Amino acid sequence: MNLILLGAPGAGKGTQAEVICEKLGIPTISTGNMLRAAVKEGTEYGLKAKAAMDSGALVSDEIVIGILKDRIAQDDCKKGFILDGFPRTVPQAEALDAMGVRIDKVIELAVDEEVIKTRLTGRRVCLKCGATYHVTSKPPKTEGVCDVCGDPLVVRKDDEPATVIDRLKTYHEKTAPLKDYYEAQGKLVTVEGTDTVAGTSELMLKAIEG
Ligand code: AMP
Repeated sequence: MNLILLGAPGAGKGTQAEVICEKLGIPTISTGNMLRAAVKEGTEYGLKAKAAMDSGALVSDEIVIGILKDRIAQDDCKKGFILDGFPRTVPQAEALDAMGVRIDKVIELAVDEEVIKTRLTGRRVCLKCGATYHVTSKPPKTEGVCDVCGDPLVVRKDDEPATVIDRLKTYHEKTAPLKDYYEAQGKLVTVEGTDTVAGTSELMLKAIEG
C-alpha cells in the first residue's frame, strides 16, 4: 500500500505517520527528516537546502525529487510506504506519476490554522536524539531539558513565529493545490486531525481501509 499524508505543517502528519507505519508494517518516508539529516551531516544537498528550510520556503523540486526517488527504490519500500511531506508541489506529484509510482490513497489531515500555530510555536526539540515535546500538551519532566538524553531543548529554527507564518503561506500557495490534483484522481480522503493522537489514528486507519 502506497500512501501520501497531506496537510499543513503542524497538522500532525509526522506523529500519525509513526502510528500508521507500525500498524501497517510499511516505512514512513519524511523528506523533511531526510533533509534535516543532510543539513546536519553537511552533505552537498544539505548545504543547498538549509537556507530555504530556515526561512520557511520549499527546497527545490529537483533536490527533493532526487532524494525521494533514491529512497523509494530501496528494498524496504517494496511492500509499500507512507510519504510524509512529499509531494509538496504539483510538479513533485507529477514527477511521482511520471516515475510510475502507484499511489493508493492520499489522506489529508485537516486542522484549524489557529491550532496549527499554537502547535508549531510551542514545539521544542532535542537536536541530539530527535525527541520532540510541546510546552503545554507534551512538556518534558524538567523544563527545557530532554527526558531521553538530558540535552537542552530548542525551538526549531522554522518553528519561530515569523517563519511559521511563512510556512503556512507556502503551504497554501504551493501544497494545497494538491488536494484538487488528487481529488481529480479519486484518491483524496480528508480526516479531521484535532482529536487525540490515538483518536485521529483510528480515523485515519478507517479512511485507509475504507
Ligand atoms: P517538514 O519537516 O516536512 O515540515 O519539512 C521541513 C522543511 O523541509 C520544509 O519547510 C521545507 O523547507 C523542506 N521540505 C521537506 N519536504 C519537502 C518537499 N517535499 N519539497 C520541498 N521542500 C521540502
